[in-house]
Amino acid sequence: MSNTKLNALLAQIRQAEIAYHRAPFSVQLLAVSKTKTANDIAQLYAAGQRHFGENYCQEALKKQQELGAYDITWHFIGPIQSNKTKIIATHFSWVHSVDSLKVARRLSEQRPAYLPPLNICLQVNISGEVSKSGITLDELPELCELVVVLPNINLRGVMAIPEPEESFEKQRQPFKTLYQAVEKIHTSIPLDTFSFGMSGDLEAAIAEGATIVRIGTALFGAR
Ligand SMILES: *Cc1c(COP(=O)(O)O)cnc(C)c1O
Repeated sequence: MSNTKLNALLAQIRQAEIAYHRAPFSVQLLAVSKTKTANDIAQLYAAGQRHFGENYCQEALKKQQELGAYDITWHFIGPIQSNKTKIIATHFSWVHSVDSLKVARRLSEQRPAYLPPLNICLQVNISGEVSKSGITLDELPELCELVVVLPNINLRGVMAIPEPEESFEKQRQPFKTLYQAVEKIHTSIPLDTFSFGMSGDLEAAIAEGATIVRIGTALFGAR
């Protein structure tokens, strides 16, 4: 089965890799399926998509049950409440939105022994708005050091959701700043994941080093 939106988006990602001198297939598509049904997911799955991102635990678990027979890699990308860390540690392969040592410790302690380590990204608030989730750029190096030593989790990199901007150049700037900060940390801690970019800024994200783009609207239509 083919899916026109999926194919167009994958073509756009491949084109952007070329345009911004990124290695072929260095950018992975994460399909963000929040508010969409298990059937919507099954259709993209039939067209070849395997990685799906969800923001809400209960909603995700329901879809995971319905899609139990599918070989899907589930990513948690939403805000994390402490009382949900056990569910997240048990039912996901990736968590992009870790924003405190406390949450990282709980995920590490609660990751079941029968599963491989949980892949995590630290969410960094690069727009500097107090109301937004994510740690500051200044907090990043120390938190990396404290998290990388925890068992049962694999610190893979960073995630960012910059303020929406119209201009391409303005969209690039926060990604660039964060990429450069990670490059410094990379000398002592191996990080390979930049979860950058959504439907509105994926080109800018790919230009500045994204390895995972998290796309909802451009794949499924408006929510
Ligand atoms: C909803 C969401 C997305 C997808 O956003 P679109 O603009 O629909 O592509 C990506 N990342 C996070 C964290 C989200 O909550």
